[in-house]
Amino acid sequence: METTRYYLVAPVTYLGAAQRLTYHSALELEAGRIVEAPVGRRQLLGVVLAASPKPAFATKPITRALALPPLPSDLHLLADWMADYYASPVSSAWGAMLPAGLTRKRRDKSDSEISPGHLPEHALTPEQNRVLEEIGASSQLCHLIQGVTGSGKTRIYLELTAQALARNQSVIVLVPEIILTPQIVGAFEEAFGPAVLASHSKLTEAERHRVWLQAMDSVTQGTPRVIVGPRSCLFMPVSKLGLIVIDECHESTYKQEQHLRYHALPTAARRARIAGAKLVLGSATPGVVEVQLAGVGRISYSKILQRVNNIPQSQGKILDMRNKDLFTSSKFITQQLLSAVEDTVSSGRQALLYINRRGSASSQVCSDCGHVTTCPNCLLPLTFHADLLRFICHHCNFRMPAPAICPECNGSDLRLLGGGTKRIEDELVRLLPHARIARLDRDSATLAHLKSVYSQLRQGKIDILVGTQMIAKGLDLPTVDTVGIINADTMLHLPDFTAAERTYQLISQVSGRAGRGDRPGQIFIQTYSPDHPAITAAASSDFDSFAARELEARRLLGYPPYVYLLKLTIRASSREAATSAAEKYAAALKRRTGIVAIGPAPAFLEIQRGSYHWVITVKSKNRPLLTEIAHSLPDPHWTADLDPINLL
Ligand SMILES: [Zn+2]
Ligand SMILES: [Zn+2]
Repeated sequence: METTRYYLVAPVTYLGAAQRLTYHSALELEAGRIVEAPVGRRQLLGVVLAASPKPAFATKPITRALALPPLPSDLHLLADWMADYYASPVSSAWGAMLPAGLTRKRRDKSDSEISPGHLPEHALTPEQNRVLEEIGASSQLCHLIQGVTGSGKTRIYLELTAQALARNQSVIVLVPEIILTPQIVGAFEEAFGPAVLASHSKLTEAERHRVWLQAMDSVTQGTPRVIVGPRSCLFMPVSKLGLIVIDECHESTYKQEQHLRYHALPTAARRARIAGAKLVLGSATPGVVEVQLAGVGRISYSKILQRVNNIPQSQGKILDMRNKDLFTSSKFITQQLLSAVEDTVSSGRQALLYINRRGSASSQVCSDCGHVTTCPNCLLPLTFHADLLRFICHHCNFRMPAPAICPECNGSDLRLLGGGTKRIEDELVRLLPHARIARLDRDSATLAHLKSVYSQLRQGKIDILVGTQMIAKGLDLPTVDTVGIINADTMLHLPDFTAAERTYQLISQVSGRAGRGDRPGQIFIQTYSPDHPAITAAASSDFDSFAARELEARRLLGYPPYVYLLKLTIRASSREAATSAAEKYAAALKRRTGIVAIGPAPAFLEIQRGSYHWVITVKSKNRPLLTEIAHSLPDPHWTADLDPINLL
């Protein structure tokens, strides 16, 4: 007679409260097997968690087990940890881990032989050797490498990967966005050939599924692999994980903002801990949270201050926009920057002009003294709302009419920050009619356009590139001599606790585009706040003093890493409904001890897809208090974001 076995199964689809269901089957199934089972009238995928004793209630049978080996056990532990740490159903964690289209049959791609790799021939620099020794000598789980742009961090990742493969261990390398960082993938493929499995956001569902199946195969065969790809690659099944690398670890793409709102850094640290692997973080401008962890000895820390080509990073020239004499032929571009661009173009070299678009959200600055209109409670910039003719604080909901004169200098030339790439492009066309100008921003950025602009730049067919964040990253062009930041304040005066940090990072990144060839290049930073520490420190590449000041400010104002944050957002069909629900809940939260609740206030983007969004920010030194709130939201119209990377 057949034995009936019982299993606890975690559905991969969100089913409200039901997180673990019991089924029966005649099959003997190991934990980690993926099965199809009935839920109501649907057939859903689930992961077998464990065998279970016969329950008191009637069970349904498992429909079938997918012809896949069981998922590695480290992924189980990680899914449980994520569900707990981010106060989410475990089904969301599994949903984030497994590729879509799992039940589809995919044509097998024959696996080629995995051969030992070929590392680049040229010798490591003394700096690179030192960092490798420091990582080897450290007993810490996590190691932070802070290396200026062009310091050869990729080569260090390659060496560490080769060491892991030699121990028969797999490696996961996370990159912010492969489309913008093609060199790093190329470097890994060149070094490790078919051992590399690369994934990126532009792959189709079928392609991504196939990469995942190949990874699963290597688990069965015990073959080490090198996985290179975005955030989601953190969950790839691999055989004997030995190393996780997170490149450009400060990037915001490592935070998932939908469904399961997790951050890849703590999640990677947890996976590394479970697997007994090492985590290596790399960045020219790491987040101050990581710097603080290094400062208290929780992670080890290496710095590389020299570029591989030994050309020093140029000092940025700060141009004070309050000085109206600097603007002779253009309202937006100072004469000094314009002349530099002109000289660069006429000597056959290239210029990049960077504009931040996110800031077109209308903070107000006095063009005479640089004073920013700020919330008296939160000390964060107020945002102007043209429909209400009012400034609003998006944290505490403080409101005031637009001031006519500057309270600081009595000047009357108060300006809203903003101004898009198109306007600057038009201005340049007018001023430099003979230059070949191209524009790159979110609106114009299809993959094909991106590739065509890159290749035209390489061939010297473009003289000036105007763009947003898209041009700040990854561009490695030896002939860029001049870099200009049109208005650094648009980032600086966003009403958010990370604004100064983002400003420092962006100025450094954009500046890093210059001087990658044989000349140091020149960098111009236009700003109304020439004395702001984020701007002066970024201009002189003085990361340590920036980080120290920024951490002190965070400590005084009560922001991470000194408190934990929880952002609660309600979505409603009318402003009245959103406001009244938010006020009611905020009042209840304000009665609790051990936490501070701020708001409610309209979200930075109050109306999204026809719904009204209001937010409450909760702070606490005790993270479990926040997890508890996130676990017990009043109704499904609320969403919780633990450890948000901004409060916008
Ligand atoms: Zn003023
Ligand atoms: Zn406020």
